[in-house]
Amino acid sequence: LVQFILYLFLLILPLGRIVGTVGAVGEALGGLSRIGEVLDVPEEDEGATRLAFAGARPNPDLALVLENVSFRYDDGPAVLDRLTFAVRRGQRVAVVGPSGAGKSTLLNVLVRLYDPVAGVVKVDGQDVRERTRSQVRAGVGYVEQDAPVLAGTLRDNLTLAVPATDAECRTALADVNLLDVLDRSPDGLDAQVGEGGVMLSGGERQRLALARALLARPTTLLLDESTSHLDGLNEARVRDLIDSQSAGCTLVVVAHRLSTVVDSDVILVMDRGRLVAQGTHEELLRTSRLYRELARTQLVR
Ligand code: ADP
Ligand code: MG
Repeated sequence: LVQFILYLFLLILPLGRIVGTVGAVGEALGGLSRIGEVLDVPEEDEGATRLAFAGARPNPDLALVLENVSFRYDDGPAVLDRLTFAVRRGQRVAVVGPSGAGKSTLLNVLVRLYDPVAGVVKVDGQDVRERTRSQVRAGVGYVEQDAPVLAGTLRDNLTLAVPATDAECRTALADVNLLDVLDRSPDGLDAQVGEGGVMLSGGERQRLALARALLARPTTLLLDESTSHLDGLNEARVRDLIDSQSAGCTLVVVAHRLSTVVDSDVILVMDRGRLVAQGTHEELLRTSRLYRELARTQLVR
């Protein structure tokens, strides 16, 4: 029965996305007023394009490749505008940019929640359109910005992607510093999550999603750090976990914390759907005015 409910949930999930899309249209309309600005070429754009060129032949050393990827929601403005970059296997990449730059949308396109309107996305050297969505997602862990609460128990939440023993579930909870949720109900891993059960804050939901993603041992981990729930993920302990668990794993983090950014191999700076600069923290401090501004005002120490 539990499995049936989970399948039902998986069926309902895309519907939720469509409803979510409708809700976000208002936001997108707000973006229309900026369309004139979108056409302006940012000062750093040329250098970024030169640095980011990916090469045309399939290359399994490249975990992720975007070639001229553009995306828009329905009839809205371009949210991703001709993005081109490549991520080598095992690289740690941070994506930064002002709110609305398209960072979350980029991750959504990487896991094929949406297909681009133009350009090519490759995962492990293969065009994602040549794979089913579930094949694409099998090796990719995605921790969304607003991790959804899943109907079911804590165990259901942890084992949705792959099966795990109770001991593994407990270890995973401990790793993301969530062991105390087991104390909130006498039912332990069998406790229902959400209303009438164990209540989780936004940060806790995101850490639960992180535990679930890591239990599936992904080769690529996409993490969209939540702006409003910096609490849990802010802990050095969770960062250490990601570092150790994701050794050899390709990591793309939409980052709001300077500590995450500084440790990255490469930082991608996005602005209004475009990749406007990339490099290390030191390089970008020298070369990108937008990055300096972000580091000063939007990245939490
Ligand atoms: P970021 O994560 O950098 O803050 P997003 O990728 O969330 O940016 O959003 C980029 C742009 O796309 C914004 O203008 C936002 O309003 C719009 N947008 C995001 N999601 C949707 C959606 N589901 N439908 C319509 N517009 C959307
Ligand atoms: Mg976002």
